[in-house]
Amino acid sequence: MVLTGAGVSTDSGIPDYRSPGSPSRQPMTYQQFISGPQERQRYWARSHLGWRRMGSAVPNAGHRALTLIEPELLITQNVDGLHEQASPELARSGRIVPLHGRVADVVCLSCRTVSPRRELQERMEVLNAGWAEAHADVESRPDGDVALEETQDFVVPDCEICGGILKPDVVFFGENVPKDRVARCMEAVDAIAGRGVLLVAGSSLAVMSGYRFVRRAAKAGTPVVIVNRGATRGDGEATYKLEVGTSEFLTTVAQSRSGASGRA
Ligand SMILES: [Zn+2]
Repeated sequence: MVLTGAGVSTDSGIPDYRSPGSPSRQPMTYQQFISGPQERQRYWARSHLGWRRMGSAVPNAGHRALTLIEPELLITQNVDGLHEQASPELARSGRIVPLHGRVADVVCLSCRTVSPRRELQERMEVLNAGWAEAHADVESRPDGDVALEETQDFVVPDCEICGGILKPDVVFFGENVPKDRVARCMEAVDAIAGRGVLLVAGSSLAVMSGYRFVRRAAKAGTPVVIVNRGATRGDGEATYKLEVGTSEFLTTVAQSRSGASGRA
């Protein structure tokens, strides 16, 4: 079983944001997002600008290696959807759990309909023609941010079905991971007790949403292997801790596995 974090996606050019969920460096909380139209204008205006970069990222060697490793369950704290892109068969069989959701999806807070973020981007392009070009210098600003007063003219589309508020289908700060999603992961952690290993790749386990699986596994006596550059919250529970890059580590594991089955 594998749990991945932001470190797995840095080789795809996605910066290691503090996460979960926000494409900005100052993550907006759920409470801010629902507090009023101004905050949503600000959120979607920044997201509109950041989407082009996020949308063009492709899976790296680490993502591809995990396709070969074929974990029983792949839990990711990343919202970039790169595991699903690299391993469509794993995704189809329900063995990838995006713990914090995916930025590729948008959810209506009223009717709960989930739609592709790509479609919303097209609607925003039409409603805000020329806006991105007029704010092209944002990326090069020291804080990479858009000032609130600059987003007052940004038009935010509503749900096409019911007119409700649209939100990225990702877990914001101040919001909980859906209970059924957590339960599914906990069951999988329990199911590998006595026979499996929990591998944590590229996460400092700073947020409880991922760390709790490490605690659960360790308590059941399941070996925990952590591969991460820098200290993690789970170092005390780890059976092995490796301070190496996740892409090279996962590639080596995938190669040794295919070598082993070749010999057998
Ligand atoms: Zn709706």
